[in-house]
Amino acid sequence: MADYDVIVAGAGSAGAIAAYTLAKRGHQVLLIDRKTREMIGHKTCGDALGAHHIRYLKELIGLPDIPSSIVEHPVNGIDLIAPDLEHRLTLAGPTTDGYSFNRHKFGQWLLGLAEEAGADVMASTRAKRLLFDDHRVSGVRVRADDSETDRDLTARIVVDATGAPGVLRRQLPDGTMVERTVAKEDQMVAWREVYHTPDYTFETPDLLEIYWNQEWTKGGYTWVFPQGPHRVNVGLGYMMLPGHRPPQRVYDEFVRPNWDFMRTRLETIDASGGIAPVRRPLDTMVEHNFMLVGDAACQVNPVHGGGIGSSMRGGAHAGIVASEALEEGDTSLERLWPYNIRYMESYGVKQASLDIFRWFLLNVTNDDINFAFEKGIVKGSDLLEVSMTGKLVLGAGEKFRRLVSGIGKVPLLMRVNRVAKLMEQIKVLYEEYPTSPEGLPAWRERLGPIYEAAKNA
Ligand SMILES: Cc1cc2nc3c(=O)[nH]c(=O)nc-3n(C[C@H](O)[C@H](O)[C@H](O)COP(=O)(O)OP(=O)(O)OC[C@H]3O[C@@H](n4cnc5c(N)ncnc54)[C@H](O)[C@@H]3O)c2cc1C
Repeated sequence: MADYDVIVAGAGSAGAIAAYTLAKRGHQVLLIDRKTREMIGHKTCGDALGAHHIRYLKELIGLPDIPSSIVEHPVNGIDLIAPDLEHRLTLAGPTTDGYSFNRHKFGQWLLGLAEEAGADVMASTRAKRLLFDDHRVSGVRVRADDSETDRDLTARIVVDATGAPGVLRRQLPDGTMVERTVAKEDQMVAWREVYHTPDYTFETPDLLEIYWNQEWTKGGYTWVFPQGPHRVNVGLGYMMLPGHRPPQRVYDEFVRPNWDFMRTRLETIDASGGIAPVRRPLDTMVEHNFMLVGDAACQVNPVHGGGIGSSMRGGAHAGIVASEALEEGDTSLERLWPYNIRYMESYGVKQASLDIFRWFLLNVTNDDINFAFEKGIVKGSDLLEVSMTGKLVLGAGEKFRRLVSGIGKVPLLMRVNRVAKLMEQIKVLYEEYPTSPEGLPAWRERLGPIYEAAKNA
């Protein structure tokens, strides 16, 4: 008899929601985190979340509304700013409303929800090793901060929610279909600081700003996310490509001298670095008695790097499928497989398509972006459509007009068309995601060439 139905390692947004979903359904859940209880939820982040994720989770698992005490300021739109700083696109619509919130309090709120639903919480405790019984995951070896000995805890299912490092994922045995490591080129490095700005007023605190600049932040961007008239979260992130520079140094050299508010009195609330996986989700996120959620499963939007909402979706879908499997007394790889299908439908397909778009964005120049903004070749509505649906569509008459206005940059426009086709292909492939593990190798064979083409598009 196992100690728990499910042990969730990592009490971030993904793990807390997985624990909440399972505990609500009456299962015995243990949620472990290496942080102290008070520090759970403290994380390097832009602290912004689209409200559509919360609406989705309310419907799916009955997640309550975010308490207003956690929200620093509502968000009503996003401005994208070209490298020349002269041209900007405003993305505003029903899908860009959301919250700039207090990440730490948000994490504590999620933890409280899991606990109230009945999950046991073990803070200040590190998940060290996966335990196996007859080659199948059977539990976790843990060590509490105040103990000098390890403790073995068993569970019918172990969920790895340890974030970007994927601590338990890495320990899966040879022969697993799960990708145990994530390529550097599929990760983003970041630095961000949060300030009070007593002498500077953000006039439109409901608008988030994203600054593109391929020379300073290749494949990423600088964000200025106000959290009220006198509070802001500022950071930058870019791809972890060979020879990349430490993000704190780039922040010092690029952000500090170039933004007006940075030259006013700043009271630093927090400053730290982080990494995030920015690719399609892992091709499979399950093993016998084992599941992956959140950053550990690469459930992050590859273009804007947002992963709170999608990690919560992952946690919820994993929780639902795990619950059904426990009730049926079958926690095999085959029985947990529907979690892959549910996540791919809910968000994975969009992530995959945006991963293609990421490679395109990585290879455009500042000059290309300035040109596209200036000539109106890219419109806010196109980008909104891409970011929300993973679909890059330019209307026919519209397309002609924009192609004509884009003369002089025909190769760029041809590339855009190629990328749009690849994004369409990947969507079709994800609609045919295998219904059982046996189908995965053949599906992967079709996936590989599309990504290779995207990298060279
Ligand atoms: C700089 C930056 C800015 C971002 N900005 C945004 C944003 O504005 N909006 C957005 O939606 N997303 C943003 N993201 C992404 C988002 O923060 C993550 O995708 C999301 O938090 C993932 O949640 P998670 O639960 O998977 O992982 P995490 O939140 O990282 O949680 C993992 C938990 O596991 C615990 N843990 C790790 N190892 C162990 C272990 N061995 N044993 C026990 N516990 C362990 C950790 O202490 C942590 O509590 C940003 C990411 C970065 C790096």
